[in-house]
Amino acid sequence: MDKKKILKDLENELRSNRSLPLVGATLVFGEGNPDCKVMFIGEAPGFHEDKLGRPFVGRAGQLLDKLILEIKWKRFDVYISNIVKRRPPENRDPTPAEIEAYKPYLARQIEIIKPKVIATLGRFSMNYFLPLAKISNDHGRVFEKDGMIIYPLYHPAAALRATRVLDDLRIDFKKLPDVVVGKIKSQTAIDAEIVAETERKNTKTKKDVNPQVKLF
Ligand code: URA
Repeated sequence: MDKKKILKDLENELRSNRSLPLVGATLVFGEGNPDCKVMFIGEAPGFHEDKLGRPFVGRAGQLLDKLILEIKWKRFDVYISNIVKRRPPENRDPTPAEIEAYKPYLARQIEIIKPKVIATLGRFSMNYFLPLAKISNDHGRVFEKDGMIIYPLYHPAAALRATRVLDDLRIDFKKLPDVVVGKIKSQTAIDAEIVAETERKNTKTKKDVNPQVKLF
C-alpha cells in the first residue's frame, strides 16, 4: 500500500474517534509530500486552519511558506502537521491531556512518513521530542532521536511578534538544507566520529608497533 493511502486510512480512523478531546473542531490532519525528507510539526491549528482544515494557512503559515521558498524549496516538497490535530478554543495552548490523546496518531503519522528530519515549530513541539530542551538555547541545534534528526525552530507566530526571533528563525532555516544532507551534524554524530577516528588511529598505531614486538 502506498503512503498516501495509509495516511488517508489513519486520518479516517482519527476522524471517527469521537472520544478524543476537541472533537467539536475541524480535523487538521496535515498535508504535503509523504515521501518528504523534512516534516514540520507545529503546535495545534489556529482560527484559519480550523476554517480550512489545513495546517499553517494563517499569517504564521504565510511566513512559513516564505521561509521555505527562501531556501528554494516548495511547501509541497515537505510535510506539515501539528502535535494536536484540532484547534483548542480561543487559541489557548494545548493541555498535556490533549497532547497525550493525539500522541498515538502523530507517532503513526511519523512512522508512515519516516522523515529524515523533524523540524519542530515552537516550544511545545520541541518539548514533545526533547522534553529538556529550551527554545532560546536549543533552536537551530541538531539532535538525534530514534534514528531521526530533530531540528528545533522558533514558531513562525513568535517570529511575527519579534524581529530578533525572526532573524534567528531565518538563520536556522538557511541551515536546514545542510542539516538534511548531513553537512551539519548533531553533537552525538560528531562525538561518534571522534570515537571512531580515535579507534582507527589506535588500531593503526598498534599495527605499526607489532613488527617491533616480534623482535623480542
Ligand atoms: N500554529 C500552529 O502551531 N499550527 C498551525 O497549523 C497554525 C498555527
